[in-house]
Amino acid sequence: MSDDVIVRATGVHKTYDTGRVQVAALNGVDLELRRGEMVAVMGPSGCGKTTLLNCLSGIDEIDSGQVLIEGVSLADLRDRARTRYRAERMGFVFQFYNLMPVLSAVENVEMALLLAGRRPAEARRRSLEALGLVGLADRADHVPEEMSGGERQRVTIARALVNDPAIVWADEPTGDLDSETADDVTTLMRRLNRERGLTFLIVTHDIAVGRRTDRILRMLDGQVVDEQVTDARFSEEPAREEPAREDQGVRASHAD
Ligand code: ADP
Ligand code: MG
Repeated sequence: MSDDVIVRATGVHKTYDTGRVQVAALNGVDLELRRGEMVAVMGPSGCGKTTLLNCLSGIDEIDSGQVLIEGVSLADLRDRARTRYRAERMGFVFQFYNLMPVLSAVENVEMALLLAGRRPAEARRRSLEALGLVGLADRADHVPEEMSGGERQRVTIARALVNDPAIVWADEPTGDLDSETADDVTTLMRRLNRERGLTFLIVTHDIAVGRRTDRILRMLDGQVVDEQVTDARFSEEPAREEPAREDQGVRASHAD
């Protein structure tokens, strides 16, 4: 596998069995995400976006197929190793923030580091740094209730990036925000992607968000049915050397 592929999914199937009915939520998904990409997953409600994100990140188990994250199959890890991998190498951003209501912003962020086994003093220092990165240095001691939706989402983004993860998974990160705040949060994610090379997979309903990613994957009925490279991929991009591509495979040449 080439080094810059961070997520590779092949033939992923997932059926929910409620006892009464079976719902085929993923019907053979293939996809690849490269390191440093920011990709949106879009599609109608119920098409399997959340299921896909949960299956790729190992929150949910898949029925068949394969998911490799940095070449590692999470399904093949024991529970503890999988939990550890997730804590150390992945960040999560959810629509409704999933912050602990009794903890302050800095405590919510440092929880991610403590769970990954970091020492308290280091966790505190890095958490304050992460809050600074998302523009919330002056809200470190506020509990979620004392913050706006946009501020809460910035705390979850700080929490997601504080471990310097391989990838951040975001499920409708702007779904609870007004359009202006949604735009600010999207700008923040885009900046972290560009400046820190953070890889994002963002499930969203909002085309304004999708347009600002590098690539939009369209889902329908549990499959990725279309892919669209956006204009944003080519704009605002800092100069970066592309790796050599001589591994692209040699095509048989046909004489016309
Ligand atoms: P989306 O995020 O695109 O709205 P989901 O991935 O949440 O879609 O759901 C895909 C399909 O799987 C839907 O038909 C949904 O009803 C079903 N589904 C999701 N989670 C469960 C579950 N825990 N049990 C049974 N069915 C589920
Ligand atoms: Mg969903």
